[in-house]
Amino acid sequence: MGKHSIDFAACPCCAHRTGGGTCPVCFWTDDGSTDQNAGVVQGGPNGDLSLSHARLNYAIYGASHPRYQDAVRRPRPDELP
Ligand SMILES: [Zn+2]
Repeated sequence: MGKHSIDFAACPCCAHRTGGGTCPVCFWTDDGSTDQNAGVVQGGPNGDLSLSHARLNYAIYGASHPRYQDAVRRPRPDELP
């Protein structure tokens, strides 16, 4: 919890507070992956991406997968970690 009156859940991939579901900032879809199982490919909406791999992609491409580079948007100020 922070200084905001409404706290959206932080994206496990890019850490912006986009509230779960498919993140508009990195296009990771929250599948329950956490730091504890970040290296495990869940095989759900993120296909063959593990959370660790998606974080690495985000650091390089600004998206959880290179194919999402044109789909993502910049985070809003209220979404910053
Ligand atoms: Zn994200």
